[in-house]
Amino acid sequence: MKFELEPHHRNVPDEELIADVKRVAVALGKSSVTIDKYNERGQFHSTTLTRRLGSWFAVLERAGLEKTRNLHISNEEMFDNLVEVWLRLGRQPKYNDLTKAVSKFSSGTYEKRFGGWRAALEAFVKWANEGEAPSMPEVQAKVATRKTPRNINWRLRALVLMRDGARCRLCGANPASGATLHVDHIKPWSKGGETVLENLQILCEACNIGKSNVEIG
Ligand SMILES: [Zn+2]
Repeated sequence: MKFELEPHHRNVPDEELIADVKRVAVALGKSSVTIDKYNERGQFHSTTLTRRLGSWFAVLERAGLEKTRNLHISNEEMFDNLVEVWLRLGRQPKYNDLTKAVSKFSSGTYEKRFGGWRAALEAFVKWANEGEAPSMPEVQAKVATRKTPRNINWRLRALVLMRDGARCRLCGANPASGATLHVDHIKPWSKGGETVLENLQILCEACNIGKSNVEIG
């Protein structure tokens, strides 16, 4: 927490404020500066700058720095998006695949976060494999009530994708042939099927609908 005597800074020229933001960016070795980082290392308080220039976004713009919006995206969100793109394309996404039409974030955002495109994919696979993926025996050993949430988190979807490949487990359709793929519970969650790797599969929309006609859920 930094206290500030506002009148003292009232006469500081804009250029000096901006120069200080640039100085912090250089000191951090970054192409952008978050509000928190600035308040740690800056000569002024961020509110002095935002009051003067309207917003932190405007401050960064004036300083010729990168806008920090993407710094607030969590790794989980980025991995979740990667699963979606992977499913949509039906194969491992390449750098140039991450267009606005298929991806929420650009390849550049992944590069910046992980230090490179390949490094981003490696981090994704590592996180997917390292996290907790409860398996059947372990789950069954517990009490006979619902143990897993219905929602299939990104890591489980990634593991299913890596296990089965991006094609429908029933008919083999893939996005190259126009199929839309979903990760689906084999035994429906509504009928007691758990959200575990063993009970998940990739299905195309057509097979998924066909399945729902037989077993609702
Ligand atoms: Zn199918």
